[in-house]
This record gives sequence, C-alpha cells and structure tokens, in this order.
Amino acid sequence: MRNGLERLLRYTVLTGFLMPNSAHTITEIAKELAKHPFVTYLDDVQLSDGLLAGAIKNAAVIACSDMGLLVPYVCSSAKVQLFLFQNGGHKFSSGGFVETVVGSGVEHIVVYGHSVCNYTKHMAKSVVDTPAKKGLEFSERSQLELYSVALDCDSASLWEHVGQFNVLFELSKMLADPSILQLATERNLELHAWFYKSDSEQFEVFDPERGAFVVPDINLSNSSVISLVTAEGHYR
Ligand SMILES: [Zn+2]
Repeated sequence: MRNGLERLLRYTVLTGFLMPNSAHTITEIAKELAKHPFVTYLDDVQLSDGLLAGAIKNAAVIACSDMGLLVPYVCSSAKVQLFLFQNGGHKFSSGGFVETVVGSGVEHIVVYGHSVCNYTKHMAKSVVDTPAKKGLEFSERSQLELYSVALDCDSASLWEHVGQFNVLFELSKMLADPSILQLATERNLELHAWFYKSDSEQFEVFDPERGAFVVPDINLSNSSVISLVTAEGHYR
C-alpha cells in the first residue's frame, strides 16, 4: 500500500500539474456534461409524475447496491414502467442495463449515488492502487486525483464529493458508449444524475445549468399523482 506522498508524487509526475481542490474537480466534469444536450435536470417528482401521468412512458434508474431494497425517492408504483438496476458503483456497463435501454424504449436514465457508501472507498482504493496507464483522459485524471486526496484525508465531506463525482463520471462514461450516444441522438434519450446524502437524508439533483447538485425546489404538494417512497420506506 503506497503512502499519500508517493501517491501524490506519482500523480504529479503522471499529469504534470498539482491538484486543484475537490469542488473544482466536480465543477470541471459538470461543465463537460453540460455541453451535452442529453444531460438535463429531472427530479424525483417530475419523473414520478411523468410516469404516472403517462408523459414519460419508460425510465431506468441505476443505483448503488447498498442503498437498500426501497431506494429513497424512486417511484415505487407498480403501474409504471421503471427499470431499477442496482450494483456496486451504479455502473451502467453491467447486468443487462444497456440491452434494456436499447430494447425497451427507455426515455430517461438516472444515475443515482449516495454518501456513506460502502463501495466508494473500496473502488477508490482499487483505482489508486492499480498501476496508472499513460494518456489518461481528463476525467480519468480527475478521478485519480480526487480518489488519492480522499484516501489521504479520509474526511466525510470529501467522500461525499467523491460520491457526487462518481455519479457524474458514470454519466460521462455512458455518453462515451456508442449505443447510448446513438440512442440519445435518435430517441431524445435524456440522462440525469441524483445524489442522496444518507446522513442528512437530503435528496439532490444534478442541474447542468448550475453545474452542481441542487436540492429540488418543487415539493410534493405540487404533485397530484405522486407515489414515492421516503428514506424511511413509507409512502407519502
Ligand atoms: Zn453505495
């Protein structure tokens, strides 16, 4: 196991520049995503209302596996067609996700991460301990940098940043996938990012215009058809 200084030196040699802070890292990847017209704002109420009222026919949520059986704020009505995938690190590349999106006419994809995640530290460690390859993409360099700092500092707020970065990073990988990109172009497929702050039970949505995760400003009283599961697992 390398110590922090070795990691920092390795990273600095590799990339040729010193580390900006973690907020900057998220801002940079957010800026890249905002250039794609397919990455849009859609919150939990909008998705549930859309599905229940029929304005959205079909959607898929890919969430982290340790978020539990009742994933907070995901529409739970049996009347709607919403595919829920769960795996460690909310990876779109596993478990038939792309096949489902392609074959089932999915219109909206949500990547849904959370803080206090069992998987995040494990994944960061494995990425940092893997020998670095040359010619990393910008987002991969950012990933390595952020993981290294988080492992060294081990602060809860930094791990929260890592969790948010991971959600956006997964969106950027999705947009690099030829079949997803083709669908996005042909079908007006839209991609969204959600984040659940487990400690404070705060739900946030990625807003490309603001380049950040934000607390949705609409509330349940605006919805006439909603059927959601709260963090405690009760219908509200
Ligand atoms: Zn998790």
